[in-house]
Amino acid sequence: MPDYVIPAPAPAVVPVAGGGLFPVRRIYCVGRNYAKHAREMGHDPDRELPFFFMKPADALLTGGADMPYPAMTGDVHHEMELVVALGSGGTEIAEAEAMRHVWGYAAGLDMTRRDLQAAAKKAGRPWDMAKGFDHSAPIGDLVPAEGVTPGRIELRVNGDVRQSSDVSKLIWSIPETIAYLSRLVRLEAGDLIFTGTPEGVASVQRGDVLEGMVEGVGAVRTRIA
Ligand code: MN
Repeated sequence: MPDYVIPAPAPAVVPVAGGGLFPVRRIYCVGRNYAKHAREMGHDPDRELPFFFMKPADALLTGGADMPYPAMTGDVHHEMELVVALGSGGTEIAEAEAMRHVWGYAAGLDMTRRDLQAAAKKAGRPWDMAKGFDHSAPIGDLVPAEGVTPGRIELRVNGDVRQSSDVSKLIWSIPETIAYLSRLVRLEAGDLIFTGTPEGVASVQRGDVLEGMVEGVGAVRTRIA
């Protein structure tokens, strides 16, 4: 055992449907990756290269656990997303090779303190505290990628459909995203990529039940506590 001088933190993991745990190294998130969501946030989706932000691995919330309403905000938004899990990595990955690195998929939520994000944007400051807060990444069980083509993506809040789109509408496809991101950083096994949200983002309230699904992949569920 290494000679740690304080107790080492437990590794972040995501359960795999059917058994086993996927250990998580880093969480990357793609911004504005569906045209209608980019427009609802006041941007022109046609002129932008993909951009990325991160959440800490221990922001994951698994097993359908409640999400505590976070502190220092009055405007928490849901962003329903397809999550890609990498089983291997590298740098300067070619688009044609990118899918070989995909181990699996999950349905996930990029929960966002929209008021803090708006203030950060206005001040030209980082988004970390808007995006990377504790429990900000509810995620469903992972499924192995083989034979899976993610399709319809949907989020219901208290049973009402709030977001509904299709993964085929991603501006930057999964292989394009992996290829581009691998030019910026070295990707590794255990990395997750939240691929962006479609239109329909909105505030959640305490007591709301969020149920998301990605066709072919699975579901994510949490209650705002
Ligand atoms: Mn997002």
